[in-house]
Formats: sequence, structure tokens, C-alpha cells
Amino acid sequence: MENKLTDSKKGLGLYIHIPFCVKKCEYCDFLSGPASEETKRLYVEALIKEIFSNKDLAAEYLVKTIFIGGGTPSSIDGKFIGKILKAVKEVFNVSEQAEISMEANPGTVNEEKLREYKKAGINRISFGLQSADNKELKLLGRIHSYEEFEENYYMARELGFCNINVDLISALPGQTIKQWVSTLEKVIQLKPEHISAYSLILEEGTPFFERYSEEDQDEDLDRRIYSKTKEVLENAGYDRYEISNYAKPGFACKHNSSYWTGTDYLGLGLGASSLLNNIRCHNEENMNAYIRNSNDRNRLRKNIESLDRKQQMEEFMFLGLRMMEGIQKSRFKDLFHEDIENIYGDVLSQSFDENLLMEKNNRIFLTEKGIDLSNVVMSRFLLDN
Ligand code: SF4
Repeated sequence: MENKLTDSKKGLGLYIHIPFCVKKCEYCDFLSGPASEETKRLYVEALIKEIFSNKDLAAEYLVKTIFIGGGTPSSIDGKFIGKILKAVKEVFNVSEQAEISMEANPGTVNEEKLREYKKAGINRISFGLQSADNKELKLLGRIHSYEEFEENYYMARELGFCNINVDLISALPGQTIKQWVSTLEKVIQLKPEHISAYSLILEEGTPFFERYSEEDQDEDLDRRIYSKTKEVLENAGYDRYEISNYAKPGFACKHNSSYWTGTDYLGLGLGASSLLNNIRCHNEENMNAYIRNSNDRNRLRKNIESLDRKQQMEEFMFLGLRMMEGIQKSRFKDLFHEDIENIYGDVLSQSFDENLLMEKNNRIFLTEKGIDLSNVVMSRFLLDN
């Protein structure tokens, strides 16, 4: 139970970035890559300094979720995770019920590390599997096999992790629906609480972008894969609660849900972004500069942008509509002191008429057709400046 003092504080999500990977995957444009053990050590020291530099801000908030992502957080010494979380708990008020997730990639996890994570307070593990087919894993440039993942997964279960996500990627070059369903079925048999299933995006600057042109991507196949994913996962007891995320009842990712519902978040670490009191910013992306300036929050933060009312409304719509339960009309009114129809009346009527959006019990949400055309629907909510 929280006490009265923390009850009155604003909720906060913390994202902690670990930008290291054993090797770069072929499709990845995240801020991540291989590094020496010395760089990793210096980075963790710097990260801890950055955590302490947020003491004044920490007083305003109650941390409800923590997400350690990357990169590959499991590629650093397991003890570092304990040190990072110890610093977080010294500086921030962390809710006793906080969801504390960490990404782990097969090939970098062992029993000792998993024990360290448990001891440090991690209560949700997110495994980056991507495919259950070893040929596809090789194509993606992953460092692990399906069997290594399975071994790590069972190890985590045995050590008592009872909230596990598995990340998957569909629509790989040359992948058939049958191959994709076979990945889903293999993963379902393990009964993880949560499955994220994103379709591949060809990001500029990656080897995949060079190799497979945009034309190779078949939108119709994408759509069929998407609806098959929903069918297979729903039959196995997973609810789709966001466009690409599925969970057993009660296991929706609280951290990601808080982004989509507009909770403030603080990003710590190289290149991490934050949104606090409608001010958005990104941390320094240069490793040397990050390590040098980590105890001075003001020198780390770049691209500071204060969101005006129109931008806040747009964000509210874009993020909220990603969730299957959609946006709450009364919340729009509470936040902006205006009926949603006064701002978006025409867009809403057009989208209702075209069966892209639906309204029920004070909520507005995407229909199946709207999900297929979500980019089109979202773009309608941009407001002229
Ligand atoms: S492990 Fe993840 S973050 Fe690292 S290179 Fe591969 S996809 Fe990118």
C-alpha cells in the first residue's frame, strides 16, 4: 500500500536505455551497438550520475513503471542492473506495486544473470525472440537460435519470473503466413503472459533497407498476417489491447500503456526521450559527451520542445487510438476544457461514416477496418497550425 504522501504524487514511467548489443542486427536502426567492457562500465557509472541528477524532479512523482530497454540490457554484467535499480530507488519514490521490466536477448542470458535481475527487483522479462525459425533468425542477423531462447525462457520460469513477454517480428522478406503462424504456435505453447507482434519496417541506413526495397513489402500480405495473428492469439486466450500487443487478462504492459495514455515519462541514458509536463526532450546521443556530462541534466538534454495545446491534442488522439479501448471523450474534455466534437467534429463524422472509427460508452476507438488503415486515420487528427 502506498502512503498518503506518495498517493498525492503524479505518476511517472522511467525508461532506462542500455545501448549495447553483441552485434548489430540486419534490420535495426536503434541507438545501440557493440562496445568494450570498459565503455559499458563507464556508461553505467554515468547513468547512475544521471539518475542522481534528477533528485529535484523525483520529488514531484511516484514511479509506477520502470522499463530497462536497449540495445540489449542483458549484455552487460548482471550486477550493473542491481546498481542501476538501487540508485533509482534511492532517488525516486518507486511504488511498491511498480512494474519493473527488462529486455533480455537470448544468447546473452544465463542463470546467474537471471538471479541478479530477480534480486534487483525486476518483475517482468521481455525476451527478444523475433522468430521461432532458425533460418529466419539468421536472416535477421540475430545471434541466437530458437533453442537458446527456449532454454532461457524455462530458466526464467524456474527462477520465478511470472510475467514474461516475447517480442516477435512478422512480414519478414519471403515469409509465408504458414511460417509466421508456426512461430506463433511455438511461442503460444510456452504460455508467455504477453506477446508483442510488430511487422518489419525497413529502416533507412540498415542492411535490410539496402537489400529489400519498399516495393518488396506486400501491404495486402501484411494485412492478412495481421488478421491471422489476431485470430491465432485470441484463440489462445490473448487479448489484443494495442495495435501490435497481446496479453493474457491482467498482463497488458503497464509501462507501454502509460505512454499511450499520456502519463509523464523520464528517459535516462544515451538518446533517451522524456515527456514531462508537456515538455519533450531527448538526451545526448554521443557516448563520450554523455559520459562527460552525465551529472548535469541540463547539458544532457537536447531538442527541448514545449508542446502547445494543438500538439497535446494530436498526441492524445494518436497515442490513445493505438489502444483497442481507444480514447475517453470525458478525458479529452477534462484535459482541454472543450468537447472533442468542437475540435474534431468533421474528422470524427467522416471516420464514423467510413466505418474507420466507432463510438461506444463515451469511448472512441478504431474498427477492424480502421486498424488496417490506422495511418490514414491518425493523419486526420493533425491540426492546422
Ligand atoms: S539486439 Fe535489438 S537493439 Fe540490438 S541490434 Fe538487434 S534489434 Fe537492435
